Amino acid sequence: MVENVVIIGGGPAGLSAAIYLARADLKPLVFAGSPPGGQLTLTSEVENFPGFESILGSELIEKMRKQAIKFGARIVDENVKNVEISQSSSKVSQKFVSANSNEFQRIPTNSIIIATGAKALWLNLPSETRLRGKGVSACATCDGFFFREKTVAVIGGGDTALEEALTLTKFAKKVYIIHRRDFFKASKIMQERVKNNKKIEIIWNATVEEIIGEKHVEGIKIKSDRIGQSQIESDKISKNKTDYIQLNPISSNSISQVLKVDGVFVAIGHKPDTDLFKGKVDLDEKGYILVKPVESVKSVTDSTDFNRFNYQRMTSVSGVFAAGDCADRYYKQAITSAGTGVEAALEVEKYIVESIKY
Ligand code: NDP
Repeated sequence: MVENVVIIGGGPAGLSAAIYLARADLKPLVFAGSPPGGQLTLTSEVENFPGFESILGSELIEKMRKQAIKFGARIVDENVKNVEISQSSSKVSQKFVSANSNEFQRIPTNSIIIATGAKALWLNLPSETRLRGKGVSACATCDGFFFREKTVAVIGGGDTALEEALTLTKFAKKVYIIHRRDFFKASKIMQERVKNNKKIEIIWNATVEEIIGEKHVEGIKIKSDRIGQSQIESDKISKNKTDYIQLNPISSNSISQVLKVDGVFVAIGHKPDTDLFKGKVDLDEKGYILVKPVESVKSVTDSTDFNRFNYQRMTSVSGVFAAGDCADRYYKQAITSAGTGVEAALEVEKYIVESIKY
């Protein structure tokens, strides 16, 4: 039996696609991963998914799964280990998806939706893992609200870090940006906004050694380079003595101290879960899947390539679609993932009708 569509990923993108495709009677097969659920299951409360004033991330995923199953989706909590797809086909090619168990070896399918997500990068400190959801976060839009009139630190120097810091100024009374260099790689306009925001203080040439706190975040231990610090920021640390607990200098050039904060936002980048698709669909230089036809289709004049330009979520391979964070460098919200999952589902429906015609 050839599947109509196999969905790879069990987060909001994959499950939203599954709900739509199940309701279209296309009986989608979803490989939701092991453990299933994606990034949402790692957050605590979600307060920005329309229709839910407050819901646990894991509960929201569970509701989506039930809804998809109710309409006829089949959900398997396994990781896909291989995907075979043809690069060049202009007509419907068979694609194969294999998961770990024998039961799911080489499943032929007419279409695939890749919704494997992206993982936030972390500092990999044991204290960071322990306090995740207890003051440590990787999403200001999701969790900033919980830090009203509090002091928070953002780690990183790219556009995400600066955007997170600006978002946090809407809630927090004070936002530190801790960056390991003496310059930002973020866009100039973001740098200007950050530098002009009175709530934000930048600590240059500093790395986080530990996050302090038992039940919730109480501070961060940072190591800073005294030379860089004084050159660039005119000794900001000494201006705010009350915010710091000074520790012993580690060497003549570096100093370790604890900065009192209530929250830590790690914004050092994301890694899309797309290793499985390298060399199979077009990815950008960071590994995100390219979906806009203008970005991904090499031969725009190929008339045999049926109506590819009518598809917004199709990858560089006909019949292979991508949705959610694995194809989204910028937004990475549960609701935007769900939205692109629905787009992909609607396009799969259309693709199946069109491909039967050919
Ligand atoms: P980036 O890779 O651009 O930046 C990551 C930052 O984190 C860098 O400053 C890096 O330091 C720092 N970093 C990395 N690892 C560590 C570590 N272990 N410890 C401390 N610091 C670390 O990722 P972003 O998520 O910021 O941005 C990704 C892409 O998305 C970029 O192209 C960006 O322009 C884009 N973007 C655009 C937005 C917009 O236009 N509104 C909003 C958000 C993102 P270093 O500088 O030393 O490398």
